[in-house]
Amino acid sequence: MRIMLPTSLAELYAAQQEFPAGAIMAGGTDLLVKLRHSGRRPPALICLERIAELQELTLTDAEITIGAAVTLQRLLECDTVKTEFAALHQALTVLASPPVRHSATLAGNLCTASPAGDTLPPLYVFNASVDTVCTGKYRRIPVAEFIAGPGRTVLQPGEVVTSVRLARGPSGRNSGYYKVGKRQAMAIAVASLAALVTPEKNGRRQIRLAWGSVGPTVMTAPAIESFLADRSFTEENLRQAGALVSEFVQPIDDLRASAGYRRQLAANLLLRLAADFDAGE
Ligand SMILES: Cc1cc2nc3c(=O)[nH]c(=O)nc-3n(C[C@H](O)[C@H](O)[C@H](O)COP(=O)(O)OP(=O)(O)OC[C@H]3O[C@@H](n4cnc5c(N)ncnc54)[C@H](O)[C@@H]3O)c2cc1C
Repeated sequence: MRIMLPTSLAELYAAQQEFPAGAIMAGGTDLLVKLRHSGRRPPALICLERIAELQELTLTDAEITIGAAVTLQRLLECDTVKTEFAALHQALTVLASPPVRHSATLAGNLCTASPAGDTLPPLYVFNASVDTVCTGKYRRIPVAEFIAGPGRTVLQPGEVVTSVRLARGPSGRNSGYYKVGKRQAMAIAVASLAALVTPEKNGRRQIRLAWGSVGPTVMTAPAIESFLADRSFTEENLRQAGALVSEFVQPIDDLRASAGYRRQLAANLLLRLAADFDAGE
């Protein structure tokens, strides 16, 4: 197996032309495990880590752009992510361990498209968009359209994610990420929830909610978001919303938990909002 280390997008296209069946590798923390388990041997690993264009983490007044080779550790250390995209920052703190985070990338987490991927619910509530390139042809895809199903994305053969973009929000916007796993660290989510609350001028607020690990992909529920938009986060209101959650999630039984337990967890995670967001905020 050849190891290709392109240093520019032009060299990446050349490597892809030489090895059309080569596997794209960012941090390798999912890919190498998958290759070892499946016994599959692609003719080449085409590594993204030295491509300067993909290592950029850029901030403008409007948005933050996270290159596909930016490690999760770098993202975790970014002040803007911590202060303006708290749900994503919190998801990074509970994703794997420091050694994994020093290699793994956000784009890799997205491309793996696991229903339990920790960064996915935050990316959904922030309406992230995904930039891709295929031999010089660019696309920008909203994250909810990018994920096509469990383990599936809309990437075409040869198409590579170059970056993930997050729009910066108004001041007063607040968000959080809540994960339940089998243990505190190094655990895949049994259920998770990202929440984003944005105050609006008319005294109302906009709420975005996205659950992980309780359906084939990230689950969103506009009806529950509008139910809570007019109500304060009292225990009673959150329990009422929770009853609606239990009806729309589609969890499965697996080694980590039963579907019934996940259904209950998905509802109960809403109760965490009461502590983190002021009632009526
Ligand atoms: C011990 C351990 C613990 C873990 N714990 C967690 C956890 O708690 N939560 C969690 O969500 N994940 C966890 N993971 C999974 C993994 O670390 C993450 O999904 C990580 O973000 C993957 O990123 P990567 O850069 O390593 O991807 P890679 O392994 O390099 O790639 C993953 C897949 O995406 C493709 N790919 C990568 N980048 C691109 C790109 N730019 N364009 C097109 N395709 C691309 C690859 O071809 C491959 O199919 C864990 C993994 C390990 C080994």
